Amino acid sequence: MKLSLIEKEIIENSIRDIKDFPKPGIVFKDITTLLNDKEAYGVLMNHLYTRYKEYNLNFIAGIDARGFIFGAALAQMLGIGFVPIRKKGKLPYTTIAEKYSLEYGVDEVEIHIDAFSKVPHAKVLLIDDLIATGGTANAAAKLINQAGAECVESCFILGLTFLDGIKNLQENTPVYTVVEVH
Ligand code: AMP
Repeated sequence: MKLSLIEKEIIENSIRDIKDFPKPGIVFKDITTLLNDKEAYGVLMNHLYTRYKEYNLNFIAGIDARGFIFGAALAQMLGIGFVPIRKKGKLPYTTIAEKYSLEYGVDEVEIHIDAFSKVPHAKVLLIDDLIATGGTANAAAKLINQAGAECVESCFILGLTFLDGIKNLQENTPVYTVVEVH
């Protein structure tokens, strides 16, 4: 089901732009103003529920940290499990790790080795608030596959279409963005 123009506007208008955060030249998309707006948060979560209830998913995997908010809420609505993909050093049990490049240097995300073990060949939706360069999401999608599951789609509330992140990630998984930033 497609979002109506009015619904899309409600979501778009609820997201706040913070210029020069965390450093000069970056426009930070602040989703806290979506979360504290019950109408916008409701429209968004109902839309995601309607889209993904047809997918027969087994798990939602959310990326640290804002992907946890949308991912955990959606998993509960769909009646399925939630799996966190975290920044290095945060998960307590045995992990699989994947490095990815940043503008300067590298970062690393991890998943618990047994995160999907309750369901053989589990179908997983990856979710985060925003895709920029796609580095984080690409590493996260690889982790899902390495943990023995299938990443059937990657979902983002916001997609920055002026970067190559969406295009690059599409080589590994289908990508869905609720709102595009041009
Ligand atoms: P990337 O790996 O470049 O696609 O970056 C995606 C991650 O960085 C996501 O977890 C986002 O929450 C965060 N991020 C990157 N750029 C922005 C931005 N302009 N506004 C808010 N979050 C961002």
